[in-house]
Amino acid sequence: MERIYLDYAATTPVDPEVLRAMQPYFTDIFGNASSIHSFGQEARKGMEAARETLASFLGAKAEEVVFTSGGTESNNAVIFGVANALKNKGNHIITSSIEHHAVLEPCKFLEKQGYKVTYLKVDKTGLVDPADVKKAITKETILITVMHANNEIGSIEPIEEISKIAKENGVYMHTDAVQTVGHIPINVTNLGIDMLSLSAHKFYGPKGVGAFYIKKGTKFSPYLRGGDQERGRRASTSNVAGIVGLGKAVELCGKKLEEEVKIHSELRDFLIKEISEKIPECCLNGHAERRLPNNVNFSFSYIEGESILLNLDLLGIAASTGSACTSSSLSPSHVLLAIGLSHEIAHGSLRLTLGRFSRKTDAGYLLEHLPKIVDKLRRMSPLYEPK
Ligand SMILES: *Cc1c(COP(=O)(O)O)cnc(C)c1O
Repeated sequence: MERIYLDYAATTPVDPEVLRAMQPYFTDIFGNASSIHSFGQEARKGMEAARETLASFLGAKAEEVVFTSGGTESNNAVIFGVANALKNKGNHIITSSIEHHAVLEPCKFLEKQGYKVTYLKVDKTGLVDPADVKKAITKETILITVMHANNEIGSIEPIEEISKIAKENGVYMHTDAVQTVGHIPINVTNLGIDMLSLSAHKFYGPKGVGAFYIKKGTKFSPYLRGGDQERGRRASTSNVAGIVGLGKAVELCGKKLEEEVKIHSELRDFLIKEISEKIPECCLNGHAERRLPNNVNFSFSYIEGESILLNLDLLGIAASTGSACTSSSLSPSHVLLAIGLSHEIAHGSLRLTLGRFSRKTDAGYLLEHLPKIVDKLRRMSPLYEPK
């Protein structure tokens, strides 16, 4: 049976070149990067080379990069780190209603501690209006955190405009760029941000390693204490092999980015066109143009996204949904509700995300089967009356 992976937004395979670069750091170059002997110094060299690679890819300085265990930790570290460091300045944070849970949950936790959080609404394409950010700022505002691109619907937020407003008001600006690093060009100076989160496993690096960019001079209180790794901003023995893998993954993305953006956008647009034409009563979720090159997200009336997934899985196709009937919460994705979909329509969503190893034949295989699956499920649905 064919096996087709269309869930690159959930995670990506490690690129074979990344794996090769990492391997020596588990065996020959195993030293603790904080040790002063040659074992340690060799490991340190590999880690610092990765830091240079990442910094230059982002348009940052090496000392502005802090390695972490991934996107979730980076978001937590930044939000709690700024909230703590600036608690005498103010207690208000602005974010959006479509953030990843790794931003929303720290914000909710801070609310319990007495902080105030504004969750900005988005329009029906998933975009935050910078004018709303401006209106939400008070004398108490210490941090604005808005994601660079949404992981479910792929909409790319107007970060430059929001950063400009943040700067004019003397407020720190953070962006969760876990879905964009390695997928679209990024430069921290052009974005105008103070902090940015990223994660290696979303761009062909290993799981369990990520980083955040923090502009020199930004006030920040460390989350992990107990060592002076990462210049005291994140204690714990460095994950050297993981960091080297992250560095290699960034290097490969740097080389391939332009071409991959083109290939993925073409395949994305092909899928969007074909699905719209082949399947009646469906709608594209997210913005038509301001969209990640690899993201396709549709809602199909009358049916459950999870049923579509199970049927696709039987054919060897891996995808994702914003429906959540088998998970602990019965509520569909907060993102799909935030763009104004009804519960019924939100439950019928399907996310297809492309990547480095996607082929046009994968799209062909999907397009051969998806219309039949949707039709079959609709015929079984009590809500459906064929037109
Ligand atoms: C995957 C993801 C995260 C979490 O990153 P991990 O490295 O898996 O912890 C955070 N934000 C966004 C937008 C993501 O897509």
